[in-house]
Amino acid sequence: MHRASQPLHERVDPPAVAVSVARDDTARVTPMMAQYVEIKAANPDCLLFYRMGDFYELFFNDAEIASRTLGIVLTKRGKHQGDDIPMCGVPVERADDYLQRLIAAGHRVAVCEQTEDPAEARKRGPKSVVRRDVVRLVTPGTITEERLLEPGRASLLVAISRRKLGDAGALYGIAAIDISTGRFSVMEAPQERLAIEFARLEPREIVCPDAIHDDPEMKEFWREIGVPVTPLARDGLDAASAERRLKAFFGVATLDAFGSFSRAEMAAAGAALAYVERTQFGARPPLSPPVRDAGSATMLIDAATRANLELTRTLSGERTGSLLAAIDRTVTPGGARLLAERLAGPLTDPAAIAQRHDAVEALVADAALREDLQAALAKVPDIARALARLSLDRGGPRDLAALGSGLTAARAIVGMLLGRAALPAELSKASRALSEIDPDLPARLEATLADELPLNRRDGRFVREGHDPALDELRLLQVDSRKVIAQLQARYASETGCRTLRIKHNSMLGYFVEVPQAAGEDFLKEPWRATFVHRQTMSDAMRFSSVELGGLEARIASAADRALKLELGIFAALSEAVLAHAEPIKRAAAALAEIDVAAGLAELAAREGWNRPLIDASEAFTIRAGRHAVVEAALKRDGKPFVANETELSPPDASAKGGRISLITGPNMAGKSTFLRQNALIAVLAQMGAFVPAASAHIGIVDRLFSRVGAADDLARGRSTFMVEMVETAAILNQAGPRALVILDEIGRGTATFDGLSIAWAAIEHLHEVNRCRGLFATHYHELTALGDRLERVTNATVRVTEWNGEVVFLHEVVPGAADRSYGIQVAKLAGLPPVVVERARTILAELEKSEREKPVASLVDDLPLFAAPQRRAAPTPAVPAEDPLRLALVRLDLDEMTPREALEALYTLKGLG
Ligand code: ADP
Ligand code: MG
Repeated sequence: MHRASQPLHERVDPPAVAVSVARDDTARVTPMMAQYVEIKAANPDCLLFYRMGDFYELFFNDAEIASRTLGIVLTKRGKHQGDDIPMCGVPVERADDYLQRLIAAGHRVAVCEQTEDPAEARKRGPKSVVRRDVVRLVTPGTITEERLLEPGRASLLVAISRRKLGDAGALYGIAAIDISTGRFSVMEAPQERLAIEFARLEPREIVCPDAIHDDPEMKEFWREIGVPVTPLARDGLDAASAERRLKAFFGVATLDAFGSFSRAEMAAAGAALAYVERTQFGARPPLSPPVRDAGSATMLIDAATRANLELTRTLSGERTGSLLAAIDRTVTPGGARLLAERLAGPLTDPAAIAQRHDAVEALVADAALREDLQAALAKVPDIARALARLSLDRGGPRDLAALGSGLTAARAIVGMLLGRAALPAELSKASRALSEIDPDLPARLEATLADELPLNRRDGRFVREGHDPALDELRLLQVDSRKVIAQLQARYASETGCRTLRIKHNSMLGYFVEVPQAAGEDFLKEPWRATFVHRQTMSDAMRFSSVELGGLEARIASAADRALKLELGIFAALSEAVLAHAEPIKRAAAALAEIDVAAGLAELAAREGWNRPLIDASEAFTIRAGRHAVVEAALKRDGKPFVANETELSPPDASAKGGRISLITGPNMAGKSTFLRQNALIAVLAQMGAFVPAASAHIGIVDRLFSRVGAADDLARGRSTFMVEMVETAAILNQAGPRALVILDEIGRGTATFDGLSIAWAAIEHLHEVNRCRGLFATHYHELTALGDRLERVTNATVRVTEWNGEVVFLHEVVPGAADRSYGIQVAKLAGLPPVVVERARTILAELEKSEREKPVASLVDDLPLFAAPQRRAAPTPAVPAEDPLRLALVRLDLDEMTPREALEALYTLKGLG
């Protein structure tokens, strides 16, 4: 696009900062620059987008930052104390893209608009400046533009408040607002839960009183959270002011109807609202009254566990490959957001979970209804966000149309659900919400709006032809005038002999003639001087006006103006009609999202053979034929089967205090990590209200989930990875309660063998004796399997592998018992280590094993007294008779229990012994 060097009727002179304006009396400050400086001074922490015609201009330091971040040309405009004033600009119609990049780069932007028609300003005198005002601050947590938002992800602004509890740390109030949908929730959390709640909510921006922001103890915390944090001046952030602010916003005399909130919650809600008001300058987002967040009733999952399990994104940060992507069969943006929200916060109340399962089950059972619902839902656009934009007066014709088609589809969905017997509670509640929609509203929207719509209402032509006779007449006039313009262009071109002459239009010059530079020079001379009046010189072209063009312009402009005025009036009326129904529309949007999630999960369950889990208040954890949702899908794409496995972590009997810990041994690549994670994912899926990839699952509520990987698998951070691993292990041992599920994958690997072994050993004892939680522990320390004999609730399992012609074959089957050996050399061979190295390794191993036999590590186990546990002597293991190994092996063969393949394997083994 051409960047016009704009004729500023105000010459831009100085200044970089406000203070210098008053003092520097040698510099002539134009009224416009004075205005700029004043506005900039009021918004020092934002880049100022200063509206001039079709562009937002940035000056001084802002211009330098923007040109660097956006890669746009830095130009100069006027001088300040002898120095050029740097300037750059972005075209208004492409501003969204630039805003997005600036926000992503961590900047905030104040958008300053012309708040009056330039014609009005001219009436006040030739030197007067168009009135301008900041209409909005664009910050990461307060955006509403479709192009700046991810459809499937909430865009939360989170505010916190703090109440010190003396020695007991502090209590935090947490308020979350999504101004793009109106969601507003509050909760309370103790200090140690703050990070977990942030991990669940994934805010785009955090605001807090400056006392918390500047607290030296919080510095490390903010750094790790990695979300922009905006401090707020303390004034007006106390609970009492917050209450006043909330009452004023919702127009109520008392907040009692919204529920009762603690002082911390109130203060946080007030801070969040204060920030919304500060950034929106009087525009009113469609906020719902605050509700207590489900946070207190959700499974606690810290950030490391979320990352490790790749719940909503993979370790490399992508959605593809995550659990969320694998289970998402929703067809609306609202449904996708709700699914993500539910996955981020699985519930801990069996009754609430059962309600969700009921809805999924009903739609698994009724495939026809499910398909009808999904087909209707597929026509539902993002109505929650469209409504938010309209409420903020930032909406366009497409937002109105979105509401029209969305609400029409909602009516169709009511028809599908209506009169069905035995509709589960969630679906019947949703259906009731949808039936509240006044059918006249979508009908009116669809009848009024054209089929093809511009993004911006000021572009006009969004009202359907035939809707308004007056409008149709004005449009006809415009069409005619366009023909006249085309004729005039042809005449000018032939008269002047300039074939590339064009008549164009922009908002600054109106209609003008544009010719190449060389032709333009002629136009400045006789005879053309009489016809064409020079307006502007571009780098390669010149622009002129003419009397005829002026006359035509007036005619067209007045028709276009009147047409646009009519259209804007129609837009306002439609918008008002929509906003009058804001509350039922919001409830409908929520209901559509719920139906979408239930239908999507049902579709998934039906297609992939997932089943309803049994969730109760026991400490059970029994999975039959469980699979890993993501790995299974990946293998399927390669045409490979996934081997389903059993998990038994339920307490061994009624008298046992606590569930079991399963120790999994097996060579690398056997499938240990996959097995561990698959169980954590099944727990998350079950409690979020989804069916699970298993033949059956019985899970006693898991209230807290931990998943950790040994250092070697972990991504390096600032600290030593082993240190990180130990800090995290410490957190688990300190925090896991009897309802926790703990997944430890090769913990202790990051240090020397005996150190690591001892730490892992002590950690298992602690989990067993003190935490008494359910757990899965993958390890390559075979020595740990001895714990299975000594600790009542520790069991051993191994992932089967077999050898075939010296090659290791992974069966991915988890069976009771311990791995016989590590197969490290076979795996190394598979990986392509040079044969000579493999051979050499075999020799060394044989040597090592020989010396091992002389001083068995197993004796170590017997020498160690048990951690904090009453000594229980393990039953003495029967001594292996010193017999011929071949004979021994033969005796052990149970021929009746063997598959043909196992028999063949056994033959090979026997041959090896002979
Ligand atoms: P380990 O942790 O024992 O080294 P992984 O869990 O990383 O092993 O698994 C290695 C690979 O084996 C996985 O990438 C996957 O492709 C495959 N795999 C694991 N479990 C199964 C299974 N149950 N069925 C089929 N393939 C599996
Ligand atoms: Mg592993």
